[in-house]
Amino acid sequence: MCPTGARLINGEGGLLAMAKVVCHCLAIETGDGLVLVDTGFGLEDARNPRQLGAPFRFLMQPRPKERTTAIRQLEELGFEAGDVRHVIATHLDVDHAGGLPDFPEAEVHVLAAELAEALHPRLRERARYVGGAHWRHGPRWVEHGAGGDDWFGFESVRILPGVDAEVLLVPLLGHSRGHTGVAIKRDEGWLLHCGDSYFHHGEVSSPPSCPPVLRLFENITATDNRARKANQERLRELAGAHGDEVDLVCAHDPHDLEREEAAAARATATP
Ligand SMILES: [Zn+2]
Repeated sequence: MCPTGARLINGEGGLLAMAKVVCHCLAIETGDGLVLVDTGFGLEDARNPRQLGAPFRFLMQPRPKERTTAIRQLEELGFEAGDVRHVIATHLDVDHAGGLPDFPEAEVHVLAAELAEALHPRLRERARYVGGAHWRHGPRWVEHGAGGDDWFGFESVRILPGVDAEVLLVPLLGHSRGHTGVAIKRDEGWLLHCGDSYFHHGEVSSPPSCPPVLRLFENITATDNRARKANQERLRELAGAHGDEVDLVCAHDPHDLEREEAAAARATATP
């Protein structure tokens, strides 16, 4: 996504330059197929961006490209759509769930509160969950209620029993009604995909910082801004106290994406 105002959104670049806002998805290889965390935009979004809705297009200036959709990137790695057995949606905004139609056979895991709101949005949420274009195909929803194990002091929900990967939903409400983080256990420690709980890596640093337009955007798009702020504070504490055990990434910060891509490249290069 390329909204105007790089300096006020990314924290660097020209005032009127195009900002860079990525959609950071994860693909997890398990013995039971692939698990995708968020889909980003889908093929149909790239063909017909109008279906993303006027308010979202005005605010975020999305420029979805077919070659960067999750399905095309997975195909490039030798997978096909049917290999994706599970999709976990941090929430159902178009920039996180636009690609659901590209994986029609996958189970789609989501917090129950998010699904309820997306399928029957109240007035103020209607511009957000636009017209159901992304679930007209009838996704195989799997709803998850809150509650479950404790994970670094966060309430968490263990999903995907029977899969040889440890994947947890970590509810982080605020940005949307049923917004969740997703924690994945890796050999080198946990990775927590924080979705839209924060937008800039500075927000989970101490002392926190965030470019002003991005902060404004977070405030106005939150369903429950108090909960959002409280959860962001908890994530900052988590990063401070357990940064050596848990890596945090958010959905839209190009800095987080580049850092993880560099780490992955180093891991691949090491025999
Ligand atoms: Zn988002």
